[in-house]
Amino acid sequence: MSEPDLFEAESAALARARATHDDADAGAPETRRVLGELLAHYERLMRETRRLIRRSDRAERDMNQLNCQLHELAGQLEYRATHDPLTGALNRGAVIEHASDCLEQGDVALIVLDIDHFKQVNDDFGHPAGDAVIQAVVQCLNGLLGGEVAIGRVGGEEFSVVWPTASADDAAGVGQRICDAIAGAGFAAPIDRAVTASVGVSWNRRGDSFDQAYGRADEALYQAKRAGRNCVRLAA
Ligand code: GH3
Ligand code: MG
Ligand code: MG
Repeated sequence: MSEPDLFEAESAALARARATHDDADAGAPETRRVLGELLAHYERLMRETRRLIRRSDRAERDMNQLNCQLHELAGQLEYRATHDPLTGALNRGAVIEHASDCLEQGDVALIVLDIDHFKQVNDDFGHPAGDAVIQAVVQCLNGLLGGEVAIGRVGGEEFSVVWPTASADDAAGVGQRICDAIAGAGFAAPIDRAVTASVGVSWNRRGDSFDQAYGRADEALYQAKRAGRNCVRLAA
């Protein structure tokens, strides 16, 4: 079945107008009648066109707005997929991805730190106060290292810092600054004592894998714990 002609009436009026135009004998009344008919159709078409343009403008505006919302949602989704909700630090997956990228490009220090005796903090002051300490530690790291540095929360009270550097001394120095900053930070009530962290640092050459880098930093962290906590160890 063929499509219905949407402009059947207009086409017929146009055909009559053309025939009248071509007819040298057409009288004035007939010409006026046909012209009147054509005018009515023309005006209706203009009204309809204006209405359609308004509608399509509205649809375009709605579509642009939806597009903006979609972009915003995609951004939020991306943020949620890569960040820890409690602290805003990178989550484990994002740390792995970022560190792996950095290791492809050059030498990188991977610093892992774990809050000392954190179970005791929870036991003494309650879980919400423990959460506040976790948040404060990330704020402390951000304040010390700047917002551009990749700070991650890789476990409950364990964090990591990806620090591209060509110097092992620099790597150890950053580890020590982190350790000192946390030990020297003040924590909001009800925490009424210093909170410390133990720090393990591995300095890795370009091309090393994340697993190697993390394994070595984690081993160094274990040694810092064994050495009495609140100290830094650099992986051999
Ligand atoms: P260590 O010095 O050996 O690291 O001792 P620790 O007490 O810090 O270590 P342990 O692994 O025994 O305890 C870690 C505690 O961290 C246990 C767990 O309940 C707590 N924890 C893990 N995630 C969270 C969290 O998101 N919020 C709070 N408040 N506590 C957490
Ligand atoms: Mg701990
Ligand atoms: Mg731990």
